[in-house]
Amino acid sequence: MKTLPLLATLAATLLPIAATAQHPPIRVLLLDGESAGAYHNWKLTTPVLREILEETGLFEVTILTAPTHDGDFSQFDPQLGKFQAIVMNYDGPDWPENLRAQFEQFVGNGGGLVIVHAADNGFPNWPAYNLMTGVGGWRNRTEQAGPHWYFDQDKLIGDPAPGHAGNHGNRLPFQITARAPDHPILRGLPHIWVHTADELYDSLRGPGKNMTVLATAHSDPANKGTGHDEPMAMVLQFGKGRIFHTPMGHDVAALSCVGLVTLLQRGTEWVATGKVTQKVPANFPTADTISTRADILSMDPDFLKGAAPIAPHPVAIRAR
Ligand code: ZN
Repeated sequence: MKTLPLLATLAATLLPIAATAQHPPIRVLLLDGESAGAYHNWKLTTPVLREILEETGLFEVTILTAPTHDGDFSQFDPQLGKFQAIVMNYDGPDWPENLRAQFEQFVGNGGGLVIVHAADNGFPNWPAYNLMTGVGGWRNRTEQAGPHWYFDQDKLIGDPAPGHAGNHGNRLPFQITARAPDHPILRGLPHIWVHTADELYDSLRGPGKNMTVLATAHSDPANKGTGHDEPMAMVLQFGKGRIFHTPMGHDVAALSCVGLVTLLQRGTEWVATGKVTQKVPANFPTADTISTRADILSMDPDFLKGAAPIAPHPVAIRAR
């Protein structure tokens, strides 16, 4: 019994040391303000993205709403140097040159970047941004934007055949298959798991330079797909900067998937630090079972009204 007080004293002495030895939070800029008109309700998805990041205890998230592409940028200075990573929930056609230059400098000098869903539609005529995303869609992109990248027979193919860029079928659940399971973002996750109903982007085109495809999903011709295994999670390098890009995450319902939540949490840590310290959630989806978060679903007012946001999307909506 004599040792107990000693242990208690030691613990009391060591605890504050352990606390101060912890890393300070990773400073993340969550950037929104425009996303392809009515297709993407960024005012709903931004709080979800913040919740996803902050619940890890790893990140300190600052939300910044940029002007729309045709707005007044004269007073807009995101002060990117304050942050370790940018999470892009912004999709517009163009930005002023000085803002583009600041963004390129940030990533080129080692800042992290996370591209979520329609953020890869943005800025078709900004070469550096397209190098950062690797692939993108819509906004009149064609084969001139670069090849259509997909997996075939376990190999990454860059298909230069002419055609449009960007398409998706109805929102249905689909399987995700790991292509680089040893990457820190995927390490420990099941190699195959089901993502909840979402837009499965296909025919994305771009330079695809310094890009590693971490995971793919089969784009089913029965749902207006290509028949190819399309990239669903990628990492890229731009200068000294690391980038994580997922075309998943159309809406709150899609973002409620435990699998996608995990990828966004791990991807953001990885772009900022080069490491992933997070454990795999016990409720991670399996090869045949969806796993969604009720707390995230309830952040969509339509869900609370009893609407069914995970029902298949109307066929007429094909763009984005
Ligand atoms: Zn979408």
